[in-house]
Amino acid sequence: MRLILLGPPGAGKGTQASAIVEKYNIPHISTGDIFRENIKKGTELGEKAKEYMDKGLLVPDELVISIVEDRLQQEDCKNGFLLDGFPRTLNQGEALDEVLSKMGLNLNRVVNLDVGKEILIERAIGRRICKDCGEVFHIKFNPSKKEGVCDNCGGKLYQRDDDTVETVEKRIEVYHKQTEPLIDYYNKKGLILNVDGSKDKNLLFEEIVKALSE
Ligand code: ADP
Ligand code: ADP
Ligand code: ZN
Repeated sequence: MRLILLGPPGAGKGTQASAIVEKYNIPHISTGDIFRENIKKGTELGEKAKEYMDKGLLVPDELVISIVEDRLQQEDCKNGFLLDGFPRTLNQGEALDEVLSKMGLNLNRVVNLDVGKEILIERAIGRRICKDCGEVFHIKFNPSKKEGVCDNCGGKLYQRDDDTVETVEKRIEVYHKQTEPLIDYYNKKGLILNVDGSKDKNLLFEEIVKALSE
């Protein structure tokens, strides 16, 4: 299964991605996670990416595309993959098509999570992430049993630097300008699966799995 998860910041891409990759036994490729790992490790890529991420802007295409291209060549992508947060521009979408066609592959589906602005902001602002295992919580919608502590591993929960109201609003604006045109791009290819992302995460997952099996 070769899938893309499309949707604005805070829509629930990462949450659905975790469930989907477990079900289909495919790797979860999140460009946001790749950048955050690089920032944590203090790499040159991380340093460059952080400049844009902190402002709510997209990291330049030339930094993103080569990372994904390399990642898709790895052995574990043989069975398929799920791209979360990539592509985010038409240019990235076209570059992905080229990479896949060179590899003789095509995409099965592009799942588009549709969520209104108010919910997006509330979801992103309340998001908490485990610094040790990466599990994602929400202070209201998916709280950990003990405040600030991960249910899985006891790790400390943190808030992303870019999950502030101002930066989330900027990211939503950037999404409308630069990412949304991809819906039309994939719609023309007959690949789009539109889902209402404001629903409960378990119901949503069931709906996605059902549609993917059709
Ligand atoms: P994205 O990867 O699209 O930015 P996340 O999956 O990290 O989004 O979700 C953003 C926040 O919203 C997280 O705190 C997550 O726990 C919460 N969340 C995700 N899906 C739902 C849902 N269907 N209903 C309520 N809260 C959700
Ligand atoms: P969200 O879906 O909640 O916005 P991500 O973790 O996907 O979060 O992305 C966080 C940030 O990382 C983005 O705001 C952007 O700066 C950068 N980023 C991630 N993926 C891409 C991409 N494909 N192209 C450009 N920038 C990206
Ligand atoms: Zn944890």
